[in-house]
Amino acid sequence: MQTTITNSVKIAADFIKSGEVAAFPTETVYGIGANAYDEKAVRKIFKAKGRPADNPLIVHITRKKDISVLAKEITPSAKKIIKEFFPGPVTVILKKNEIVPGVVTAGLDTIAIRMPASKIARELIKLSGVPIAAPSANLSGSPSPTNFIHVLRDMRNKIPCVLIGPAAKFGLESTVIDCTGKYPVILRPGSVTLEQIKRLDKNAVYQKRTGKVKSPGQKYKHYAPKARVKIVKRETSNVKRETSNVKRETSNVKREMSNVKRETSNVKRVKEAYIGLTRKFARDFEVAKICKTIEEYAKNLFSFFRECDELGIKTIYCEKVPEKGIGAAIMNRLGKARGKK
Ligand code: AMP
Ligand code: MG
Repeated sequence: MQTTITNSVKIAADFIKSGEVAAFPTETVYGIGANAYDEKAVRKIFKAKGRPADNPLIVHITRKKDISVLAKEITPSAKKIIKEFFPGPVTVILKKNEIVPGVVTAGLDTIAIRMPASKIARELIKLSGVPIAAPSANLSGSPSPTNFIHVLRDMRNKIPCVLIGPAAKFGLESTVIDCTGKYPVILRPGSVTLEQIKRLDKNAVYQKRTGKVKSPGQKYKHYAPKARVKIVKRETSNVKRETSNVKRETSNVKREMSNVKRETSNVKRVKEAYIGLTRKFARDFEVAKICKTIEEYAKNLFSFFRECDELGIKTIYCEKVPEKGIGAAIMNRLGKARGKK
């Protein structure tokens, strides 16, 4: 399949209107969208991504009044969140209306709704004239795309249109909040934090996955690079540094032995990378990303994973951060990337 790569929102909207899918930028990550009312079009998203059919999509809107078309009831807890955080990187879960085909919600009686802040995404929804069902524009299981190069790498020749735009502002998927009950329950942490939601409703909680999975996407290994992901505490990073010093010395000795051997040992050397907040830990790694703030860590995580894969890195050491604020979202993604279910 030929992929039209365009910066024309109109061209992308024409694909959506004709029952096709198009990838597009948002402030969280890039999405791959289709007319949420067109069952056949939505199935194309699942096919292109290789996404399991039991993992529902988020429906993107630009007008608040569309919420009452898609959902049965806007609960008091949803109202507060919508007022404060729409448009933005937040998704609310509500009871769905019949108008939404079951394929969008993976057969659930609830629907995920988000109003993106990204100007291009909003223009696309407006010109398409329908709500757009869209998950992230990556192959299922791999890290979400935060720029259009990532999208092309995963989706070129698999979908008919990629709308290009700026890199994602946040770089992490939206905060998913179940608003069907009395108080908000965060099912997937994101850039909008539990602490911020608690300011609206002090009873809000972050429900880490327990027995029953409420947000199906959370049960899969996800966001994973090809490299092995290891989560390291500050103390273990020290241990690691010592080990790698020993390794370096050994390889120095080898290097002096002969040119041929040097080449072989370079090829054989295990490639490792580091991402985190602490500069001194980065020293011993061939590839490292030091982030000045926790927001920068969140924003760069997925693109760093993809960069490491390009470089053939075998192990990525990711610094553990406290599970508060955006730290909760980073630890959630790292846990999934490591394969912890
Ligand atoms: P993605 O946009 O690729 O990050 O995927 C959408 C996320 O929203 C997945 O983690 C889904 O499990 C979640 N989601 C979508 N619809 C629902 C729903 N009705 N209830 C709970 N979670 C949902
Ligand atoms: Mg996704």
